[in-house]
Amino acid sequence: MITFCTLFSGSSGNAAVLCTDEGAVLIDCGMSGKQILAAMAAARLNPGDLKALLVTHEHSDHVKGVGVISRKLDLPVYATEGTWQGMEASTGPLKEENRVVITPGESFFLQNMEIAPFSIPHDAAEPVGYRFYLPGHSVAVATDLGYFSQTVRDAVLGAELVLLESNHDPELLRHNPNYPAALKNRILGKKGHLSNESGAGAAVELAQNGARHLLLGHLSRENNTPDMAYQTTRDALETAGAEIGRDVTLRVAARDSVSALYTIA
Ligand SMILES: [Zn+2]
Ligand SMILES: [Zn+2]
Repeated sequence: MITFCTLFSGSSGNAAVLCTDEGAVLIDCGMSGKQILAAMAAARLNPGDLKALLVTHEHSDHVKGVGVISRKLDLPVYATEGTWQGMEASTGPLKEENRVVITPGESFFLQNMEIAPFSIPHDAAEPVGYRFYLPGHSVAVATDLGYFSQTVRDAVLGAELVLLESNHDPELLRHNPNYPAALKNRILGKKGHLSNESGAGAAVELAQNGARHLLLGHLSRENNTPDMAYQTTRDALETAGAEIGRDVTLRVAARDSVSALYTIA
């Protein structure tokens, strides 16, 4: 059986779990160790099943609990060299054997899983998304995307289940009085975050290439709402001729609680 869920998703913290009969992996650990373990308990997931912690990039909403969880569970952490350099100050000392360096574009294997890290356009040192190949199935995690680049497209098309960014509504962001211009430009830029409209465009391509489950995530707290994200992608999928529920399922990952638990095999 293959299951997937997010524990947290959004600018305040991210973590997701992919489980197979042979073990589980945690993708990002952007809340405190205590919060991550409590969320796993709420999802009835056993931390003892975790075989690895995969990090996408060093921003604090992805690495806050990395050190604590790795030390507590004696868990190897996988990250690119650039991400390691960016996050080492915040993780604290880790066992040397739990420090695994990966390279974008080079797959590695864990149990029955092939894991393919791919470069993403984002303002971090060496950020990646992940595509997971399991016997007969595949899953992709693609958030923190300035845009849906060709590299990302090549990496995620064909996946059956995709966690896809739908970060903000550009109008809400532009008119948000709490955000300085530089921050707005950063988020809207090619190394920032994927808007609802851009996410919807990516969702259509994914649905046309075999995706059966789309989970929208990494929503901005101030510049988006779950309804806006959902409706933008729903409308784009329906316009493209996909029927929600029949051809593809569409959900929004909750910010502070466990998402739907997907079972894909
Ligand atoms: Zn980021
Ligand atoms: Zn992020």
